[in-house]
Amino acid sequence: MQTPLPSALAFSNIALFLDFDGTLVPIASHPDAVTLPHRQRSLLSKLQTQLKGALAVISGRRLADLERLTAPLPLTLVGCHGAQRRDSDGTRHAERLEPEAVAYLGAFLAEFTQQHPGTVFEDKTYAFTLHYRQAPQHERACRDTMTRLWHAYRDTYQLTEGKCLLELRHHTCHKGRAVQRLLDAPPFRRRIPLFIGDDRTDEDAFPVVNARGGFSVRVGEAAQSQATYRLDSIEEVLSWLEHQTRSMPP
Ligand SMILES: [Mg+2]
Repeated sequence: MQTPLPSALAFSNIALFLDFDGTLVPIASHPDAVTLPHRQRSLLSKLQTQLKGALAVISGRRLADLERLTAPLPLTLVGCHGAQRRDSDGTRHAERLEPEAVAYLGAFLAEFTQQHPGTVFEDKTYAFTLHYRQAPQHERACRDTMTRLWHAYRDTYQLTEGKCLLELRHHTCHKGRAVQRLLDAPPFRRRIPLFIGDDRTDEDAFPVVNARGGFSVRVGEAAQSQATYRLDSIEEVLSWLEHQTRSMPP
């Protein structure tokens, strides 16, 4: 059970990790329909300065997408749940993929959606997502196919499930590992982690944050969560963060 986050923290010593969709901006019907409003842009810019760069946006989106959405802010950005990263100085990091596996999975699932009308396949480079929201009659076929593929590639991919979707995720896609890696180096090192996220992939990060004596915050209602604290909505996330920026030196 999560308790409300204290209204004021000793914020200047925090390493801040923020999920994007559902945490900073509302989830849209299509991911491409999302923009970063002025309020959030100005908040991120202030936080970046006040935390001396110890701020990262960590999302399941591709890095290129995050860069487009937050440009020109020089933030640390982590894409594909941790498989891609751009540091605030522009340095890029990406996990290595096996091109044969990527090509095979991509072609196989594209073919599958041709044979099962209404199913949608999304190639996120480090993850392959099969949606059946529009075609629930194909749920069983989707499940069987993804399970079979997972058995063939279980050394490098894990199978996860979401709302009307199944996803094969490269094992480097893990927000907890991403947080751990950032905390091992400046400007995050020797700071107390605070992670705010709204979804099951954020749950990977919460135990890492808790083990470091930090603040794990789940946004919205969650029946089960490893987070210690909660904020009820995106509006609460924004006002809470704005409150912290007002109590810190500019
Ligand atoms: Mg989210």
